[in-house]
Amino acid sequence: MSPKVLFWVPVALRMGFVLAGVGLLWWWFDAVSALVAGMAVLIAMLVVQLNYLFQLSGWLDHPQSSKLPDGWGAWTGIFSRLYRLRRDDEKNQAELTEWLARFRQAMHLLPDGVVIMDDVLFLEWCNPAAEEHLGLRHDRDKGMRVTNLVRSPDFMDYLILGRYDQPLTLSFRGRKLIVHIIPFENRRQILVTHDVTETQRAEMMRRDFIANASHELRTPLTVIVGFLEIAASEQLDAKTREAHLKLMTEQGHRMQNLIEDMLTLSRLESVDHPMRPEHVDIRKMMEQIERDAQALSAGKHEIVLEVRGGDVMGAYEELYSAFGNLASNAVRYTPAGGKIRLCWEDTDKGVRFMVQDSGIGISPEHISRLTERFYRVDKSRSRETQGTGLGLAIVKHVLLRHSGTLNITSEPGQGSTFIVNLPKSLAWAPPPPALTA
Ligand code: ADP
Repeated sequence: MSPKVLFWVPVALRMGFVLAGVGLLWWWFDAVSALVAGMAVLIAMLVVQLNYLFQLSGWLDHPQSSKLPDGWGAWTGIFSRLYRLRRDDEKNQAELTEWLARFRQAMHLLPDGVVIMDDVLFLEWCNPAAEEHLGLRHDRDKGMRVTNLVRSPDFMDYLILGRYDQPLTLSFRGRKLIVHIIPFENRRQILVTHDVTETQRAEMMRRDFIANASHELRTPLTVIVGFLEIAASEQLDAKTREAHLKLMTEQGHRMQNLIEDMLTLSRLESVDHPMRPEHVDIRKMMEQIERDAQALSAGKHEIVLEVRGGDVMGAYEELYSAFGNLASNAVRYTPAGGKIRLCWEDTDKGVRFMVQDSGIGISPEHISRLTERFYRVDKSRSRETQGTGLGLAIVKHVLLRHSGTLNITSEPGQGSTFIVNLPKSLAWAPPPPALTA
């Protein structure tokens, strides 16, 4: 049935009942009583309609679906349709609010900065990452021109040229940012910032590492190739040949050490090579380190070992390599006749390994850089003693994997002290004795 029929049929029926009632009264009584009764019914109907109109206008001021009045007659249909409309509206609004909250949360968590600006670059909204990257504050800077907030000639040029199809690499507030402007809607633009400081630093470190490693390998290789060329072109006497062979073997060992250290470093850095803690018998390890140091020193130093601390949980090979590097450095950088002390002891916060030497020492300006790859204070001494420049970098990585720290104190000409602190969490506790029945 059409809505028209649905509306008019009940109205016509009601009017018919009223007229029939008036007719009956007229027939039973007289015309005046019938007309008075008819008028009274019409006035009552009018009052009811006006009352519903009043309720509707009141409801429109605060249209909540739960507060919609119940209707009578045609009003029932009107109110139920209004109720459905309002309920759908409220549902849509709730969904929209939820989406907006989710969108805001996503924008808050986004590592990339997002700034929304109008067509003349006035700031409308930005997320926390953009605040951090560009030094903005949404509540403070809203409505201000972004060019007045991000003061950088490169950024200005980018805006003036308007070549937004390509991103801009911007150095701003000590960061390297990739900045991209994307026009959207008719009169709005989005500015997206991506922080590449760390990536670029890692890329630079990688390039430096390759350059340094190639340089380190080239030197011994040049020596070996030079001697081989001499050997191929000249008849050498036995003594010279022997001297050349000795030098070539030394350079070969140097390359071997370098490659071994590079492989160790790459293994330590690899996420596919997680640290597997095991019980480390410290006394056994320390005695081995002392024997290695004695062999390297060849009786030129006085080396003492003191083991007072307990065992730890860790990767034996890694700790042996780190502590061994520190001990071998002490021997290599201490002139003959010097004293070296290797000490393992418990502390309040865990355990520590200390290597103390009376060697050449290190000037303070070098100390913070010693764990950088290929960093050497005295290049010639390092090479003379088969150093690769990677020993302390290896120590640093091993300690990172064991939550340890390295402390260096030194004075030129007075000697150095290298202290490795390992946390209590790595202390090894002997298993409880098995219960016997
Ligand atoms: P290298 O193989 O050259 O010894 P390391 O990474 O082990 O490389 O050490 C880096 C630099 O730190 C060394 O080249 C040396 O200049 C300095 N160094 C390390 N240990 C000592 C020490 N005990 N005494 C003096 N200098 C040291």
